[in-house]
Amino acid sequence: MSSLDALVRSIEDDLTTEQALERSLKELADLKFALDESAIVAITDQRGIISYVNEKFCEISKYSREELLGQDHRVINSAYHPKEFIRGLWTTIASGRVWRGEIKNRAKDGTYYWVDTTIVPFLNSEGKPYQYIAIRYEITERKLAEERVTQQAALLDQAQDAILTRDLDHNILFWNKGAERIYGWTAEEVLGKNASDVLFQGSSVALQAAKQIVIDKGEWRGDLRQVRRDGHEVIVESRWTLVRNDKGEPTSILVINTDITEKKRTEGQFLRAQRMESIGTLAGGIAHDLNNVLSPILMAVQMLQLKMKDESSRQLLDILRTNAERGGNMVRQVLSFARGVEGERVALQPKHLIKDIVKIMRETLPKSIEINFLLPDDLWVISADATQVHQVLMNLCVNARDAMPSGGSITLRAENVHVDENYARMHLEAKPGRFVVIMVSDTGTGMTPEVLGRIFEPFFTTKEMTKGTGLGLSTALTIVKSHGGFVNVYSEPGKGTQFAIYFPAFEMEEPSGPSLPEMDLPLGHGELILVVDDEEAIRQITRSTLETFGYSVLTAADGTEAIALYAQHRNEISVVLTDMLMPFMDGPATIRALQKMDPKVKIIAASGLTPAHTPGQASLEGVKMFLTKPYTAEKLLKALAELLR
Ligand code: FAD
Repeated sequence: MSSLDALVRSIEDDLTTEQALERSLKELADLKFALDESAIVAITDQRGIISYVNEKFCEISKYSREELLGQDHRVINSAYHPKEFIRGLWTTIASGRVWRGEIKNRAKDGTYYWVDTTIVPFLNSEGKPYQYIAIRYEITERKLAEERVTQQAALLDQAQDAILTRDLDHNILFWNKGAERIYGWTAEEVLGKNASDVLFQGSSVALQAAKQIVIDKGEWRGDLRQVRRDGHEVIVESRWTLVRNDKGEPTSILVINTDITEKKRTEGQFLRAQRMESIGTLAGGIAHDLNNVLSPILMAVQMLQLKMKDESSRQLLDILRTNAERGGNMVRQVLSFARGVEGERVALQPKHLIKDIVKIMRETLPKSIEINFLLPDDLWVISADATQVHQVLMNLCVNARDAMPSGGSITLRAENVHVDENYARMHLEAKPGRFVVIMVSDTGTGMTPEVLGRIFEPFFTTKEMTKGTGLGLSTALTIVKSHGGFVNVYSEPGKGTQFAIYFPAFEMEEPSGPSLPEMDLPLGHGELILVVDDEEAIRQITRSTLETFGYSVLTAADGTEAIALYAQHRNEISVVLTDMLMPFMDGPATIRALQKMDPKVKIIAASGLTPAHTPGQASLEGVKMFLTKPYTAEKLLKALAELLR
């Protein structure tokens, strides 16, 4: 008699003695059918006390039948499962229902084994269980394999890389947490889907080629451009290994992808920065050669000017000289760029530098962008590297230009400021003391707070790859900080941006300010001079020169403003100094209008051209004084003194 038959007989005996219900008999008949030799069988009473075990039970639990009979079933308890698990088992079977589950048990020698367990209750006439039969099949191997897989998966999830497996048709079989992080898709969302659709949004030639190589050679490595869930591109360094089954047939591909997007971007920008540097060097070289081309032209022009006295030749030579000089100025600017950032600190009057920048900007920026500047006469001196400060201002102006694709205005202003303790406390980088603040403001697109928070990061740019390196502002900040200064930015989307850069003031007199009265030049006695010029720089320098030498000054930016001012102050104004070439109302027109108001008005006309060649000079009766631009302070003061004598 087999152990199975013995088991059935024992159950049947129990059932007859307990007059079991028909339902139990039917269940037993089903069981008899179902049980095979690998079943591990035990019968307990309603408390779990073992009344029967088969051979297989003894074999797996390593207890003898004698040791088991009459024992509580907890003899094989492994303490692996939580209390709720056992409670659930008991609640189910005690209510007369079948329980099924996987249990980890402990054998007599301390080893563990897993069993897939079904516990069937047998009910008495009152419907209460009086006996349980437990039928188990060993699943240790499967459970250990599962455990290993779980552990491995947990390890794979720790990896930063995306680790995935896919079958040979690229259907995704495994997807770790790293892949979730890099691509933004969870495992549930992509398992079973095609990698071409998920990672390449369609078939990719690179993917097909890589697959062929991995099948032929067993592995493939290379960089791939893929797409994240949010549509952004990700560049990965990809390593593929062919996985084979026991028979050596290829079944799947293990893929490990490292995200190198940032690395590639940085590399690209580094290369571009290097390229820019070499362009700078190249530009420097060309500028140097151009200088050598321009110098003889200028000298030849001077010689020709001595020889050719006729009017039309002189006019042409003047144009030639002015333009050659302009070319020379541009070359000097390129050279100052190309010289780079190293250099020593010198006492520097930022006014001159700012005017220089304004000049370059006016020459190079589109006409739709207006450049203004406002500088106080008494601006303090800073200790700085001129080239570096130049670079900072250029960077800010170029950014301002880029923020105004359809035009606008850039304003450069400078002020002396005392940063007090209060202010310094509110601004991390600021220290109390005397500073010169240079402000560059534009009327452009402005920035969102998010962008504003990142602008000083190296390589951060909102511009297209070809247009911005993301190095401009970070370089600017480094330079300002290295000068002991700090930067403040204010920006509003749609309204514009203002950068304020603070340089510590140098405690000394301005080294190259307006010449001082001790130069034995004629001084004024408080006479009021009306200076008319469309160039603010000229108005500023003329005002500061005249004020230094004892005059009072009114300024007008064009003819109409001059006439309005003259109407208001005609009794106080002693002399009108006017430029001849101005927009709106030019010099001759202004002079005629002034003479109409006051035939005795004293006028000095200033022009880039000599009086003989100034248009409309014929009508300038009564204008006795001409000044050729650029004129020195000495010339201006002497002309004034002569006129006022
Ligand atoms: P316990 O504190 O003994 O029990 C945990 C909770 O279960 C209790 O709080 C209570 O809510 C409930 N409970 C316990 N005993 C009873 C009871 N007699 N009646 C009603 N509710 C009760 N255990 C295994 O570990 N592995 C097995 O393979 C296994 N097979 C079993 C097969 C059968 C047919 C039966 C009837 C029980 C089986 N058990 C098995 C359960 C076993 O008898 C013990 O209950 C369990 O091992 C004890 O766990 P414990 O000491 O950690 O918790």
